[in-house]
Amino acid sequence: MKITEIHVYAHDLPVKNGPYVMANAKVWSLDTTLVKLVTDTGLIGWGETCPVGPTYQPHHAKGARAALSEMGPGLIGANPLQPLLLRRQMDRLLNGHRYAKAAIDIAGYDLMGKAYGVRVADLLGGAVTENLPSYYAAGLGDPDDIARIVAEKAAEGYPRLQVKIGGRAVEVDIAVLRKVWEVIRGKGVRLAADGNRGLTTGDALRLSRECLDIPFIMEQPCNTLQEIAAIRGQVHHGIYIDENGEDLATVIRAAGTGLCDGFGMKVTRIGGLHAMGTFRDICEARNMPHTCDDAWGGDIIAAACTHLGATVQPRLLEGVWLAEPYIEGTYDPNGVRIVGGHIKLPEGPGLGVVPEDGIFGEPELSFS
Ligand SMILES: [Mg+2]
Repeated sequence: MKITEIHVYAHDLPVKNGPYVMANAKVWSLDTTLVKLVTDTGLIGWGETCPVGPTYQPHHAKGARAALSEMGPGLIGANPLQPLLLRRQMDRLLNGHRYAKAAIDIAGYDLMGKAYGVRVADLLGGAVTENLPSYYAAGLGDPDDIARIVAEKAAEGYPRLQVKIGGRAVEVDIAVLRKVWEVIRGKGVRLAADGNRGLTTGDALRLSRECLDIPFIMEQPCNTLQEIAAIRGQVHHGIYIDENGEDLATVIRAAGTGLCDGFGMKVTRIGGLHAMGTFRDICEARNMPHTCDDAWGGDIIAAACTHLGATVQPRLLEGVWLAEPYIEGTYDPNGVRIVGGHIKLPEGPGLGVVPEDGIFGEPELSFS
């Protein structure tokens, strides 16, 4: 099979009741990038990458499309049934920019599944469940509002809840965690406090010390791995790395040096499903839990995260985070949805999600 055409689309995903607020970003609308690979067999594959604004990671939507423009001509004629060789070809064409390469990688897996008549989860090793746990991430807010949201989401059936902290007075973050704990205590719901790089080391230490009785995971409390290393031996809560987990080398270093207890991981940040499968295996070898997320995006990225999540050992899967509850607009009426805090694995073949004809309008870039 050969790639004969590559089309790149820009598509807007408005945030419901926006903005969504994190320590380093305020988001009203998402600019997502879709990739359509056309092959000499007539089969079509879809990929997607959607940075959550330009400040969450060193990624941005226009950067993704510029990177795809750089690589596009050199990928015509490549075989999408060979994900490892496809990744190496992308690396020969452009250094870094894994989040843009991920859209091509995902479209390749969609094509492989369609060519072999199997689901992407089967290509990634096989699904261990058809119904995956998700988690809800409540944005930055005041203690009463966040406690109300958390109560609603726990009642909906989410097995895990995340609250955003950081980028403001640590007293407010502590008050949020205390109020949230009052609401979910005894309900069997797991809790994560996500700093999105926004806490100082001093505030992270204080937060952990003043919430000793609350069993939450601290996710990416500080900006750099050095800061996390500095507080690692002094905090009383497990630490997960999210934004700093930019590549497999960093994951190996963090796992190998005991810098963290688990990860929040995003399929596009690490470079797509091929790299995410390797990440999953590293975590399983070290018994480290992790999420299986993306920054944001629509049905295509949601399906990719769900297929990978379905292959993770259930005891190590912290949940699959999707943007679906937070955004307006779907590509496929049978797309990926969260119901009762859980996600049904799409049936395939490939990703099992097919965008409606013409939904993305004219492509911004085309190569043939
Ligand atoms: Mg996070």
